[in-house]
Amino acid sequence: RTSGSTTATGLLKVVSPDVKYEADFIYASYPYRTVNAVVQEDGDVRAEPVERLYHFRTAVRPRKLGLMQVGWGGNNGTTVTAAVVANQQNITWETRAQQHLPNYNGSLTQASTMRVGFDAQGRDIFVPMKSVLPMVEPNDIVLGGWDISGCNLADAMDKAKVLEPDLRSKLRPFMEDMVPLRAAFDQQFIAKNQQPRATNILSTSDKGEQLEQLRKDIRNFKSTKELEYVVIIWTGNSERYATEITGVNDTASNLMTAIKESHQEVSPSTLYCVAAILEGCPYVNGSPQNTFVPGVVELARERNVMICGDDFKSGQTKMKSVLVDYLIGCGFKIKTMVTYNHLGNNDMYQLTDEVMWKPKSASKSRVVEDIVDSNGVLYKGNEDSIDHIVVVKYVPFLGDSKRDVSEYTSEGFMDGHYTTIMHNECLDSALCAPLILDLAIFVELFSRVQYAVEEGDAGLRKDKYSGMETALSVLGFYMKIPRVPPGEPIVSALGRQKACIENLLRALVGLPPENNLLLERKCP
Ligand code: NAD
Repeated sequence: RTSGSTTATGLLKVVSPDVKYEADFIYASYPYRTVNAVVQEDGDVRAEPVERLYHFRTAVRPRKLGLMQVGWGGNNGTTVTAAVVANQQNITWETRAQQHLPNYNGSLTQASTMRVGFDAQGRDIFVPMKSVLPMVEPNDIVLGGWDISGCNLADAMDKAKVLEPDLRSKLRPFMEDMVPLRAAFDQQFIAKNQQPRATNILSTSDKGEQLEQLRKDIRNFKSTKELEYVVIIWTGNSERYATEITGVNDTASNLMTAIKESHQEVSPSTLYCVAAILEGCPYVNGSPQNTFVPGVVELARERNVMICGDDFKSGQTKMKSVLVDYLIGCGFKIKTMVTYNHLGNNDMYQLTDEVMWKPKSASKSRVVEDIVDSNGVLYKGNEDSIDHIVVVKYVPFLGDSKRDVSEYTSEGFMDGHYTTIMHNECLDSALCAPLILDLAIFVELFSRVQYAVEEGDAGLRKDKYSGMETALSVLGFYMKIPRVPPGEPIVSALGRQKACIENLLRALVGLPPENNLLLERKCP
C-alpha cells in the first residue's frame, strides 16, 4: 500500500485551550458555523454566515449498559446475542473453507475509523471511531429482553439458521439458559401467521397491567444485573399502524388514559416504549410502525428520555441512499428505481400479510424523498418524480440470505440513458445485528452529552447545561425514516448522515468538522 496514511491504535486526546479533560467530564468549546439562507422574491438567495458558540460537556465514564431487545428470540435478537457471546468467549469455528474468528465487522463504533489530520510527514492519521470518546465495549453489554416465543436463545438461534452449525453448537452452553421474558402481545397488531409463536405472553390482556409488568421487568433486569443504564430496542415483528385518534394517543396524558382503559389502538410496541420512557430508558424503534404516536413523543420530551427511529436501515435501503445521492448529486435525473428483495426468514414471512406490509412499503418507498427534493434543477415540482417500485417476495429456501436486485435508470447528458443494475446478497441479520449494537452504544454515549449555547452579543443563552433533544436524529444513519426534533428536516443521504455522527464526535472534543479541503496542501 502506498497511500502513507496510518491508523493509530491508541486513544485520541485533543490539545487545545478550548478543550479540557477532567476526571468526570470532557469540556469542549465549539464555534458552530452555519448559514442562514433566505430565498428572495426574485429567486435570488441571501446567505448569511452565522456563528454560535457551543459548550459541550461529556461525562467520561461509560456506564454498565444493559440492552433489552423486544423480539429477543428472533433472527436479529439471537444474532446480536450470539455475536456478543462469541466475542466475549473468543469462540472460533470451522467452515468448509477455513477457521473463523469472531469480530464486530459492519459496526461503525467497532470497525470504522475517522481521519484526525496530517502528521509532520504529511500523512493522514486515522483513529478507530471508538477511540475518539469513551464508549461502552460491546463485550461488556448485558443482554436481555422479551419475546412472544418462549424458546431459549440457543434453540431460537438454531431455528434462525443465521450462523454456522459449528459456531452454534459451541455457543449453545452459553445461550440455553437465556430465556426471553413474557411479552405484551396483541394479535391484531401482527400477522396471523405469527400466532403459533405466541406461547410466551403475559397472562393479562389489560394494557395498564401489561405496562406495569413491563416496567417491573426493566427494573428487575437493571437491579439483578447491577446495571447503571438500560437501552431498549424494538427488533420484534413489524406491526400494523396504530390509528392516530384525537383524545386517544395525541397527547401524553390521553395516551396514559387510553392505556388504563385498554384502548384497542394502543399497540404492544407503544406499551414497551411508554414503559421504557417511564423507567427513564431510551427506546429505539427498529421497525416501520408508528410506535411513536404524538402522545409518546410528548411523553419522551416531558421525561427527557431519548427516542430513536424508525426502521433499521440495513441493506437495500442503505445502498439506495448511497446510489441515489451519487446519481442525483452528479446531475443524473433518475427516472425509475425498481427494487426487489427476496428472502425466506420469519420477518419476510410475516410481511406476506398485506396489512403488515403497508408500513414497511411506505418506509422503503420514502427513503430518498429529501435527496430528490434537494435538486430542483432536475426535478421541477411534486409531479416530476421517480417511478419507484418496491417488491419483496418470500422465498423460504433462502432463509436469512437476502437477495436484492435493483435497477436504476437515469436521464444523462443529452438524453443518454444511464442504467445501473445491482445484485447484493447478504445474511439479513448479519447486516442488522451490528447496527443494533452501535445504536445501544451511541445512545448511551449521547445520553452522557450536555450542551450550553452562547449567541453573539446576547452572551450565554442557556446558563446551564442541558441534554440533547430527545429525538436522536444524529443516529439517522441507522434509520430508514429518521425521527427528527420539531422543525429539523429529514436527511437520508448516507454520506451526510455519517458525516453528522463523525462531526458531532469531533465537536464533543473540540475538533472542527471534517471539510475535506486539505487546504494546507493545496494552498500551502
Ligand atoms: P424475526 O421475525 O426473526 O424476529 C422478530 C421477533 O419478534 C420474533 O421472535 C417474534 O416472536 C418477536 N415478537 C413479535 N411480537 C412481539 C412482541 N409483541 N413482543 C415481544 N416479541 C415479539 O425478525 P428479524 O429478522 O429479527 O427482524 C426484526 C425486526 O427488525 C423486523 O420488524 C424487521 O422488519 C426489522 N428490520 C430488520 C432488518 C434486517 O434484519 N436487516 C432491517 C430493517 C428492519
